[in-house]
Amino acid sequence: MKKPNTTGDEEKRRILENDPLTDGVEEARCRCRVCGTWIELGSIPQIQLVNWADHCKKYHSRSVSVPPKLKPQRLEPDWLGLIAVMQAIHMLQHLHSYLVLLHMALRGA
Ligand SMILES: [Zn+2]
Repeated sequence: MKKPNTTGDEEKRRILENDPLTDGVEEARCRCRVCGTWIELGSIPQIQLVNWADHCKKYHSRSVSVPPKLKPQRLEPDWLGLIAVMQAIHMLQHLHSYLVLLHMALRGA
């Protein structure tokens, strides 16, 4: 009882279209913006992103720097998230020392 997973394919294509490293997405392949190679994604209706992921890892180690004119803003959210996490940890450390001080003050009183 399995039906063709075409909606999954659409989802995957959307992921590829939003990928800053792709430069064109077709039904069962996508083009690499960095080296211009077309990557085959298997067959419809069950395309695979693994070939694309492998290509990025193997040839561009994924963290390839995208030239500034090419959607640089897509790389920012990760950094902002990382900074937010670090700030949260920093705040927790402050909160912890504040609680320790408060505890000592209350005990001393
Ligand atoms: Zn490539």
